[in-house]
Amino acid sequence: MNSFTAGSVSAAPGTLASGALMVPARTGDSGTTIPFSVIHGTAPGPVLALVAGTHGSEYVPIIALQRLRTAINPATLRGTVIMVHVANMPSFLGRTVYYSPVDGQNLNRVFPGKVDGTLSERIAYAITTEVINRATHVADLHGGDGNESLRPYSYWITTGDPKVAEQSRAMAIAFGLDHIVVDHGRPTDPAKSSFLSNTAITRGKPGITTENGDRSKVDEDQIALVERGVAGLLMHLGMRDDGPIPLANPVWIERDEVLRAGSTGLFYPAVVKGQMVDSGATLGRITDFHGKTLEEIRAPFAGEILYIVETPPISKGEPVGMVGARRAE
Ligand SMILES: [Zn+2]
Repeated sequence: MNSFTAGSVSAAPGTLASGALMVPARTGDSGTTIPFSVIHGTAPGPVLALVAGTHGSEYVPIIALQRLRTAINPATLRGTVIMVHVANMPSFLGRTVYYSPVDGQNLNRVFPGKVDGTLSERIAYAITTEVINRATHVADLHGGDGNESLRPYSYWITTGDPKVAEQSRAMAIAFGLDHIVVDHGRPTDPAKSSFLSNTAITRGKPGITTENGDRSKVDEDQIALVERGVAGLLMHLGMRDDGPIPLANPVWIERDEVLRAGSTGLFYPAVVKGQMVDSGATLGRITDFHGKTLEEIRAPFAGEILYIVETPPISKGEPVGMVGARRAE
């Protein structure tokens, strides 16, 4: 067994090492750092990358990784865990929803990134080259952003190599969230992978995206679900002998739609997360800044509210919520 090196961090077998990936300054910004840890086991095995803070105000997975960093024992681990503690430091310290305060971009839409691009593109490039390229399996851990009231779910990306898709499906089941959104629509070009977990998948590595937490709240029950989910992955991948058993009967969301605002103004939700709605049901309305209703947002089909925006600011084109319909039994 050799040491495992990523960036400037090197972990000997059976040890934990932490440091930061450096994203150097360029004209227009002062660069940033990406704190990460390597937990290197004592026997060969998979390299599991766990990424938190791709959206900087999604705190539940960030806190879960703070705890998991010392809870995973390198002495009994097979393989290696790479943890990215805060992928999007400008958004985390700037307390922004969706977008970087530096360049206005959504980090989870600019993968695989560019070495000489905007700050978000350079963060994506560093994660692609130093984390995803070094991993065999990837989990991008998200949650309800500051404006999103969200019930927990995972995304299973079905596009690309069927063997990779099958392994990704097994990862989603092992993570254990009881709703799994079947995602048929992600890009297959590795040069335009767009999303973090899809960057792994387009490079032939299984990956999932998970969603835990509600409107940036640091919620102990949701943190526990992420910790349980990682334990499930470690057992499923053969990296540890024990862990929670895979979910027997997840709810498969076969059809989903993110509903978007047609106008800018104030959003008033009419439903709550987890609510079942009929086709055509009103999910909320948008008013102008004087209170006049501009539009009503309606469910395009019957299903469950996976998340709904619960804070007033809304701009044309932004998501107001997501509806998912279960697979017919
Ligand atoms: Zn997110």
